[in-house]
Amino acid sequence: MNFLPLIESKREGKILTREQIQEFIREFTAGRIPDYQMAAMLMAIYFRGLNTAETTALTLAMRDSGDVPIFPKDKRPLVDKHSTGGIGDKVSLPLAPLLACLGFRVPMISGRGLGITGGTLDKLDSIPGFRTLLPAAQIVAQVQQVGCVICGQTDTMVPADKKIYALRDASGTVPSIQLITASILSKKLAESLDALILDVKFGCAAFMQTKADARKLAKAMVALGNECGTNTRAILTDMNTPVGCAAGNWLEVKESIECLEGKGPSDLQELVIDSAAHLLVQTHKSKSLAAARKLAEDCLNAGEPRAKWNEMIIAQGADLKAFNQKLTLDSTAKVVFEVKSEKPGYVSKCDARIIGEVIRDLGGGRLTKDSTINFDVGVDRIAKPGERVEKSAALCRVHAADSGQAKMAIARLKTAFEISMKRPAKISLIVAVVQ
Ligand code: URA
Repeated sequence: MNFLPLIESKREGKILTREQIQEFIREFTAGRIPDYQMAAMLMAIYFRGLNTAETTALTLAMRDSGDVPIFPKDKRPLVDKHSTGGIGDKVSLPLAPLLACLGFRVPMISGRGLGITGGTLDKLDSIPGFRTLLPAAQIVAQVQQVGCVICGQTDTMVPADKKIYALRDASGTVPSIQLITASILSKKLAESLDALILDVKFGCAAFMQTKADARKLAKAMVALGNECGTNTRAILTDMNTPVGCAAGNWLEVKESIECLEGKGPSDLQELVIDSAAHLLVQTHKSKSLAAARKLAEDCLNAGEPRAKWNEMIIAQGADLKAFNQKLTLDSTAKVVFEVKSEKPGYVSKCDARIIGEVIRDLGGGRLTKDSTINFDVGVDRIAKPGERVEKSAALCRVHAADSGQAKMAIARLKTAFEISMKRPAKISLIVAVVQ
């Protein structure tokens, strides 16, 4: 195809037709449009935007760029959750088995971390023997038998997003509301879901820095998801402070298990319970959010989701004995140091961006697509805003590969915390629901 006139049209702010969008996605996926031309189109879209019809056409063309898993008819609704990404955001891990125990099927196709935001698949890769890459037939079989799977896209699932996302990352065109919408929803709509809950994050460690931008993104995704036949809702959540008290791949798996055992931090539990509760209401399994929250809490406290977790990881090849043994260790990193408070008072700030950058630089995240991850490094026992600390008490611990790296991390982690004499006002975690 002659792609240049389409790039020029978008550069001039003109509207592309559904057929034009379908054709260039098909041609790009087949390798018949060079990356440099697609990068130019992405930049034109970044500056000129897409209207609602164009965004829908792009999303559906991307969804249809490969195979979609076909699930047999079943009375258990197919549901999923997607987060736009944050620090310490491990919600998917306890949520998938909880949803399976609540009578859902959960084909949770997840991604890897890039930059400072962590990726669910990287966290799961820290479990001995666990396989995140499964053939499509196994994904379907596991969802039917166990009720949940957390794995990566197969090579043939939404290949257009894989190629476009890599280009966006290299061309500075990630933070476009329409491109994010198409990227996330093309993958989620490929799962043929009955209901989807989106966790759209705002704040210093999120793609969307302001609540207003997060709301715009949430509204766009909710409208498009619903238009395409998937009951879609979004919660807007604060990502200025990490979720929970641990960040870093293995440390987050450990904290997820604490959550499944009823010993997790309250903010993590709130996100897990609320995500499940919305899906219960969206699929008419509960009449109200309050009733749905109670159902989800009772299910979590009964311990069934903890057993379901084991069933899920065994189905994906995990060595349960090695996993349980690893859980007993205080740390799997070479060195662990405390970061101490220089004065007494209340924690008034705990900057998720700084913590995310430190973990990435310790080797826990990726600077490029091909970076190798150190699963053992991270930060835990994080003192959260409102917590009282005495002079020399620990603000957090750093797990590092050697003491030189730990020392550099400690100096930077100190700047993540602010201590004040007055107890700060409580920060709301979930600030709005968009439906
Ligand atoms: N997650 C995605 O899958 N795509 C985006 O564009 C942003 C976050």
